[in-house]
Amino acid sequence: MNEMDVKKEEQPIISVVIPVYNEEACLGKLIARTLAACRQTGKSFEILFVDDGSSDTSATLIKEAAIENEGEVVGVFLNRNYGQHNAIMAGFSKVRGEIIVTLDADLQNPPEEIPRLVAMGEEYDVVGTVRANRNDSFFRKFSSSLVNRAVQKATGVMMHDYGCMLRVYKRHIVEAMLMCQERSTFIPVLANSFARTTTEVEVEHAARTLGESKYSFGKLISLMFDLVTTMTTYPLRLLSIVGGIISATGFGFGILLLILRLIYGSEWAVGGVFTLFALVYFFIGAQFIAMGLLGEYIGRIYHDVRARPRYFIQDIVGSLPEKKKAMRNAESSH
Ligand code: UDP
Ligand code: MG
Repeated sequence: MNEMDVKKEEQPIISVVIPVYNEEACLGKLIARTLAACRQTGKSFEILFVDDGSSDTSATLIKEAAIENEGEVVGVFLNRNYGQHNAIMAGFSKVRGEIIVTLDADLQNPPEEIPRLVAMGEEYDVVGTVRANRNDSFFRKFSSSLVNRAVQKATGVMMHDYGCMLRVYKRHIVEAMLMCQERSTFIPVLANSFARTTTEVEVEHAARTLGESKYSFGKLISLMFDLVTTMTTYPLRLLSIVGGIISATGFGFGILLLILRLIYGSEWAVGGVFTLFALVYFFIGAQFIAMGLLGEYIGRIYHDVRARPRYFIQDIVGSLPEKKKAMRNAESSH
């Protein structure tokens, strides 16, 4: 008993965060398998189940597990459904470990991979995963391949699979993510923007056998928008570019008409119908450019409003005596 008490006081090394939304069908197996996998690492750990406002018995099951495995399983309960990524963020705000693992509750990614990923997590800031033999519909595969390419372009970090949530982050990455104020986040992409070293490993991916996907088509689209807007305001700039192209086309067309009219005479131009087209094109383009201009301002407002840290100091080597002292004083005066 005494030993248990001491264990509870200690900071765990590994924290596992699992968002749960109406997953009563999977929870029993999930808890058992995750516990077994974590014990296998031989390190101290905590498993946080974040109940994302489930309406089935998930919350009760988590409560029971937390009581039964005190010190190893923790239940975090949200009052309503906030979405997968917000639920994970809520979990992040409570983790105590140095190496943080995220995992889906639906057992599509086997918890048995945890020991291997944690071992890699000691070396890298972010350990991403690639789904080997991915078991999802064609639409899901296609849309995520599009997204992956866009992310690679925007963040400069090469990763092949952002859809898989079985991932490992070092503590300072999680702390950096918690400093971001924006409401819609896409965690794997956000993490990459704070990482120095990243790597990817292949993990198994099974089809969902228990319960059903919590992502409807609409929710998936909204997730995609979250993903795009987390990394870039480029779509706003696209307005100006499209406008420029349309306008230039209209202008070129107008010039062409003028030349042809001079060559072939006024009958050829059918009383100016084509000229009208050229004008319309030109002005539609101009409208797009104007919207793009507004977009540029909105993009800047967006950047400021979400108030991401301008930079993130990961580590300081060498001593900064005066500042450190000042900080300690400030701390002790509280
Ligand atoms: N999830 C959540 N809140 C939501 C939707 C999903 O916490 O609003 C959790 C869900 O319980 C699961 C994970 O997020 O653990 C991934 O959900 P799902 O497996 O349905 O997504 P898919 O695998 O279809 O992308
Ligand atoms: Mg799933």
